[in-house]
Amino acid sequence: MPPLLELSGLKVYFNTQDGVVKAVDGVSYSVDAGKTLGVVGESGCGKTVSAMAILRLISQPGKIVGGSIMFEGQDLTQISEGEIRKVRGNKISMIFQEPMTALNPVFTIGNQIAEAVRLHRGASKQEAYDAAIKTLEQVGIPSPAKRVHEYPHQLSGGMRQRAMIAMALVLNPRLVIADEPTTALDVTIQAQILDLMVEMKEQYDASVIMITHDLGVVAQTCDDVVVMYAGQVVESANVKTLFAEPAHPYTRGLLESIPSRHKESHGHLKEIKGMVPSPIDLPTGCAFHPRCPDVMDVCKEKMPTLKKCKTGATTACWLYE
Ligand code: SF4
Repeated sequence: MPPLLELSGLKVYFNTQDGVVKAVDGVSYSVDAGKTLGVVGESGCGKTVSAMAILRLISQPGKIVGGSIMFEGQDLTQISEGEIRKVRGNKISMIFQEPMTALNPVFTIGNQIAEAVRLHRGASKQEAYDAAIKTLEQVGIPSPAKRVHEYPHQLSGGMRQRAMIAMALVLNPRLVIADEPTTALDVTIQAQILDLMVEMKEQYDASVIMITHDLGVVAQTCDDVVVMYAGQVVESANVKTLFAEPAHPYTRGLLESIPSRHKESHGHLKEIKGMVPSPIDLPTGCAFHPRCPDVMDVCKEKMPTLKKCKTGATTACWLYE
């Protein structure tokens, strides 16, 4: 079975006054049908930009300048604006981090969910509202027939995110892209929303791309993971391998910086030293080399390419050449 979605060598550049920002620079990853792929990395590593490129939601001065995004036999980078509109929300939908900014404050929840049903399915107003009410009920919104007439500000943060999930699922998409869906919520609500997403994914038989900086979210929801750094994939593996035997020093650093009751911390939490480099002034060779505890001379001069290593993961690091 070919993957449901396959990015190959995707490049998204932003032409700024200070130079070209290579936000995504030759990224390849794939999502299998019915699976959840975690895309992990620090802020600015290109994870959100690569996902926005899938729906062609890159605005000026950004541009997809290379690579392909294959989905159901079509290259989404090549199809017309009319065709990509038929994909957005219908076959591939998105859940954003902050529902208050993603939802339109001047329309009711029901109106915003029903709009998509009318647009893509040609449903009548009543049919579209019925679908909205049914989906709101499935995502655990109490009294959905009443809530459907409420505005986003009348719902709590958790309820708003449930409404966003309903909007993402109402058309039964093949793929849902969730961009830090729990980051803006408090901890107890985060757990509920993650449980809901896992349950809904099964119920709707959808695939998911879970964009997150939180490895706890990855452990709880993902089958496979790609780790990104400075606009590139540095490791990809299935979730068990990644947690048991992280190959890339950056992945190891991310895992070691998770607080744990069982680790001997001697009062200090481990951290990855240094800062993420500026995307317009990346280090030569391996972009991680100024922060890497295993750096060698070759790392400063030549960029490593992705190779399969013994654990079964694919990683870009001179330690595995
Ligand atoms: Fe560290 Fe070198 Fe591997 Fe980069 S290539 S992660 S600097 S060991």
